[in-house]
Amino acid sequence: MKKVLIFIGPPGSGKGTQAKKIANRNNYAHISTGALLRARLANGDYPPDEAKILPGIREGHLVPNWLVYRLVFLEIEKQMQDKQGVVLDGAIRSLDQAKVFQEYFTANKLIKEIRVVYISLPDEESYNRLTKRRVCLSCRANIPYLPSTKDLKSCPHCKGELIRRQDDTEEVIKERIKNQGAIALGPIVEYYKDLGVLKEVVGNCSIEEVEKSVFEAIN
Ligand code: AMP
Repeated sequence: MKKVLIFIGPPGSGKGTQAKKIANRNNYAHISTGALLRARLANGDYPPDEAKILPGIREGHLVPNWLVYRLVFLEIEKQMQDKQGVVLDGAIRSLDQAKVFQEYFTANKLIKEIRVVYISLPDEESYNRLTKRRVCLSCRANIPYLPSTKDLKSCPHCKGELIRRQDDTEEVIKERIKNQGAIALGPIVEYYKDLGVLKEVVGNCSIEEVEKSVFEAIN
């Protein structure tokens, strides 16, 4: 298996869920750019040049590239010291980012270690999933919108109250799909296809079915 697994996919495609599963199973580090950014914003421990930028993630705006590189390159270096590899979740959301990451992997002798997993989902399905998914107020577990979970009245893990995610307002969801949806991802997908490193997995099915396809894509 390659040491660098790059997950790309529209919001709601389940790339975070799948990236986490693969990382846990293979002793890889799960590096979620969104989680790194949210943690930085929450603990307030960031340099002045990030102060104006970080709150924008609540509105669905992409952060500038330099901030992604600052956080993710450092995290890869840190994690590579004691893990078998890394799973990048959401690190690449533009063609510029894809190209700079390729330069980074070349400089760090990882260029032959890349597999890109593209979990595809039409924009209208992203919209459906994001407007209906919930999060547990107590344990913060994400409850996706699925036939098996849609009628849940409380958290299946801790019985906590289920609410909509704070950044899942209609306006923010539309903005996120415009910036990060299937159409926006098109040029990135083509770029990796041309490099011969991309495997596409259809995301419009159950978590277990997607998991099986991801397994086949990386092995
Ligand atoms: P996520 O949890 O992956 O949905 O990411 C949450 C938010 O973090 C996104 O809506 C963006 O505002 C920001 N973000 C995460 N990754 C990137 C990236 N590679 N480039 C720019 N902004 C990002």
